Amino acid sequence: MPIKPAVVEALLTIFGQDDVYLDAADCWIYGYDNSKLHHPPDAVAMASSHEQVVACVALCKEYQIPLTTRGRGTGTTGAAVPTSGGIVLSLERMNQVLEFDPGNRSIRVQAGITNLALQNFLKPHHFFWAPDPSSAEYCSVGGNLACNAAGPRAVKYGSCRDNTLRLKAVTGNAETIITGSKTSKGVVGLDLTRLLIGSEGCLAIITEADLKLLPLPSDKNTFRVLFSSHAEASTAIQALMAQAHTPCALEFMDHHALDLLRQHSPLELPQAAAAMLMVEIDGDPDSLAVSSRHIESTLAALSPLEINCAHSPEQAKELWQARKALSPILRNLAPNKINEDVVVPIPQLSNLLTGLDQLSERYNLPIVNFGHAGNGNLHVNILYDAADPIQDQNAKSCLPEIFSLVLSLDGTLSGEHGVGIAKRDYVDRELGETELRLMRQIKQQFDPDLILNPNKGWPTES
Ligand SMILES: Cc1cc2nc3c(=O)[nH]c(=O)nc-3n(C[C@H](O)[C@H](O)[C@H](O)COP(=O)(O)OP(=O)(O)OC[C@H]3O[C@@H](n4cnc5c(N)ncnc54)[C@H](O)[C@@H]3O)c2cc1C
Repeated sequence: MPIKPAVVEALLTIFGQDDVYLDAADCWIYGYDNSKLHHPPDAVAMASSHEQVVACVALCKEYQIPLTTRGRGTGTTGAAVPTSGGIVLSLERMNQVLEFDPGNRSIRVQAGITNLALQNFLKPHHFFWAPDPSSAEYCSVGGNLACNAAGPRAVKYGSCRDNTLRLKAVTGNAETIITGSKTSKGVVGLDLTRLLIGSEGCLAIITEADLKLLPLPSDKNTFRVLFSSHAEASTAIQALMAQAHTPCALEFMDHHALDLLRQHSPLELPQAAAAMLMVEIDGDPDSLAVSSRHIESTLAALSPLEINCAHSPEQAKELWQARKALSPILRNLAPNKINEDVVVPIPQLSNLLTGLDQLSERYNLPIVNFGHAGNGNLHVNILYDAADPIQDQNAKSCLPEIFSLVLSLDGTLSGEHGVGIAKRDYVDRELGETELRLMRQIKQQFDPDLILNPNKGWPTES
C-alpha cells in the first residue's frame, strides 16, 4: 500500500532525504532476510539516533503503519521480513560503542553494531561478549538480542539472556524504557530485560544495550573425536557434561554430515566413523593442562575410534576444518534446504538422532544433523528439490513430524534462530493456550496498536 504523502513528509523530516528510501527498487532488498522469504516494505528509514526511533514509532502509531525493525537481515526465520508491508526501520547506522567500563566488566553499545565489530573492539582489552553466532561478521547486536542468539560458546558462557545487563528500548507506544540496571546483581521489579531478549522486535525496539563482559581466556585446546555410532557420541556428550571441566565448545556431526565431507572435501575420515565431536576447552596454561587431562581421560574411557588433540592455533584450525567445511557443502548440494535448530535435553540426543534417521528413511530425503551438542541443540537440515513434487511434499510432511519428535523428547522447537514466520504456526504445539494468551496480553501492553513486527513469533489468534 503506498505511504500517505503526510507520512512521507514526516519521515523526511525525522530522518532527512538521504535516509529514507521510497523507491520500490531501493525497498526491495529490505524485504528479505536469510530465510529467503520476501515481502517488500512501502518505505525504509535508516535511524541514526534513539530520538529518531521514538519519532518513527510515534508516526507509525498515529497512522497505524506496521513497523519492522531490521538489524542486518541475517535471521533465518523471516522475522525481519515486513510481511504486512509498512515501514522497515534499519538500525545498521546505530553502530557506536557508547561507554566501555572494564572495571564494571560492561560495555554500552548502540544496537546496530555488528557482533564482530564489538568483539574486535574488546579483544585488545582482553574481554569478550559471550554470544558468538557464526554470522558474527554480519549480524547486529540488536538482532542477536532480539533472537537471543548464541553459538558454540553458549555451552560454557550462555546466550544473550545470560550476558546482558540493561536495555534502552522504545515500546509500540513510542515510550522510552530502561530495563535492568548497569549492575551485575539486581532484583527490583520484573525482569523486562530477559523478556525483551528473544522477543523478535514484537514488544519494543532496542536502541542501546549494556552488555556483560567476560575476560578473554589466554589459551585453548581442541579435540576432534570420532565414534562408530551416534549413540556412542551421545554417551560421550553426557560424560563430558557430567564432569567439572566445562568445554567452551562441544559440537557434533552425524554420519550424513561425515559422508558429505568424505564426498565433497579433501578431508580423510575413517570409513567406520559415524559421528564426530569437536571439543574445545579454554583457560590459562595451568588450568588448561588440568582440564585437558580430565577431558582426554573422560573421552579415552569411552573407547572412541580416534582422538586428535590440537595444541596450537594452527593445529586447531586444521581440526575445525571438518566443521567449517560442512555449511558451504550443504549450501551447494541440494536446491532446497529446510534448516531447523531444535533442542532436546542432552540425554535425549541419541533418541532424537535415531528418530531423525527413521524419518529420513521414511520420506526418502537426506536429513543432515550437526550442531551445539553441549546444549542439546541440533541444526537439522532436510535436503530436497522443491521442483520435484514428491520431494517437495515429503519435505513438508516430514517437518511437523520432526517437531512432534522433538516435543515428545521434552525438547523445544528453537534454540537460537527463533520463530519469525517460519515456525510461527507450530508454536502452539509447544506452548499451551494459557501461555499464549499471556503472551498476547503482554504484547498488547507493550504495543497496544500491534504495529511492531505484526504477526511474528506466535499465532495471533487462538
Ligand atoms: C550463515 C549464518 C550463520 C548463523 N549462525 C548463527 C548461530 O551460530 N547462532 C545464532 O544464534 N544465529 C545464527 N544465525 C542467525 C542470525 O544471524 C542471528 O539470528 C542474528 O542474531 C540476527 O541478527 P540480525 O542483525 O541480522 O537481525 P535481523 O535478521 O535483521 O532481525 C532478526 C529479528 O530481530 C529483530 N531486531 C533486529 N534488531 C532489533 C532491535 N534493535 N530491536 C528489536 N528487534 C530487533 C528483527 O525485527 C527480527 O525480528 C546465522 C545466520 C546465518 C545467515
